[in-house]
Amino acid sequence: MYRKNAWESLPAEENQQMEQFAIAYRRFLDAGKTERECVTEAVRQAEEKGFVDLAKAVKEGRKIGKGDRLYCNWMGKSIMLFVIGEKPIEQGMNILGAHIDSPRVDVKQNPLYEDEGFGYLDTHYYGGIKKYQWVTTPMAIHGVMVKKSGEIVNVRIGEAADDPVFCFSDLLIHLSADQMSQTAAKVIEGEQLNLIIGSRPATGEEKDAIKTGLMRLLTEKYGVEEEDFISAELEIVPAGASRDLGLDRSMILGYGHDDRVCAYPSMAAVLNYEGVPERTLCAVLCDKEEIGSVGATGMNAYFFENTMAELMALAGEGSELSLRRALANSLMLSSDVSAGFDPNYPSVFERKNTAFLGKGVCFNKYTGSRGKSGSNDANPEFIAQLRRIMDDAGVAWQTAELGRVDAGGGGTIAYICAKYGMNVIDCGVAVLSMHAPWEVISKVDLWQEYKAYCAFLKEAGK
Ligand code: MN
Ligand code: MN
Repeated sequence: MYRKNAWESLPAEENQQMEQFAIAYRRFLDAGKTERECVTEAVRQAEEKGFVDLAKAVKEGRKIGKGDRLYCNWMGKSIMLFVIGEKPIEQGMNILGAHIDSPRVDVKQNPLYEDEGFGYLDTHYYGGIKKYQWVTTPMAIHGVMVKKSGEIVNVRIGEAADDPVFCFSDLLIHLSADQMSQTAAKVIEGEQLNLIIGSRPATGEEKDAIKTGLMRLLTEKYGVEEEDFISAELEIVPAGASRDLGLDRSMILGYGHDDRVCAYPSMAAVLNYEGVPERTLCAVLCDKEEIGSVGATGMNAYFFENTMAELMALAGEGSELSLRRALANSLMLSSDVSAGFDPNYPSVFERKNTAFLGKGVCFNKYTGSRGKSGSNDANPEFIAQLRRIMDDAGVAWQTAELGRVDAGGGGTIAYICAKYGMNVIDCGVAVLSMHAPWEVISKVDLWQEYKAYCAFLKEAGK
């Protein structure tokens, strides 16, 4: 079902399954507002399904074989899930990859200060955001502070119904004559994203009484001191839960659909796989995509390759050559979101090659910018195989580019995995208002995406 309205072709018996899946996805979205929280939740669900920690298996020198289910938690910020297949791993895996970091505003290392009656946290935004979208809306603080002793303190403020929230201020319209004449990039500047976190002075203090009062509250609640901000990873994200969107509840409004709307179904497809697959299955949920897949937990790091080496050693396929072959023989859906056609802004899209909300899972042969630059350009032989698999499984699907030629551009993790010589294509769902505090997806696309991933795991490479 190519480029058809997925609502119209949805079998009545799937309606209930789709709604159930959307509820489970919303739960994941609300539990995982940072990469660390996503990994914690993924580990919980994997263990519930009987997946075993690879690190433990390595430590015990345990042999692994077909049907075994394992996970590897990489620094608490990326995770891989595996189901070992019938065939040797050397013959290739079916891989689903997605990222679990989302655009947000990070707290600086020396953040706490007060100014004319307000206590603030100074910030540095993470990923591509339109800064003006992030002011005057309730924000929560999620993350960790690590004490000198090594103790990790989990912080999560602004989500429970009786929690306080935080916000960035904006200038009142009455005095905005100058601001309103600025370009959108300058209306709110990065250094103006200072988070208001309080205003009540501590009693008996003459200097920095508000800051002192706020620090006392943090010490009471978390046992931390100001210097612990130096070794912290605190992320400011929109406060509150995802919601059904529309009178007909056909969509979901949520923070971080990019890319948890791909990460969750990728994880679920592997966790829910029943029996022993022919080829080994893998889901890799990684960090740092939004800033270029860099760092030790980004897809450019060697953690994926290293983990494969460990896994294959336990499976009795421990040679360097077997590892190279396994990677080159693998097939991958690099799952990331597409720019959904927005009728309010038609000029940046080319309708024949655009992702529409409600038309199913979306394949992007290439992304990139300025003449496909920086893009993985998937092989037509691989795309033909996927067309067969999708149509046989009754999946509603579409193909798209990221907007009109030269309208802008972007990248994903596809090109990084492609360097092993494996066949990779970008595949995800269409999103409206991508990278805004609240993004929009269609429930029917989410469902088609899950069906697509299940069919890919089962049928690809046959
Ligand atoms: Mn993405
Ligand atoms: Mn993104």
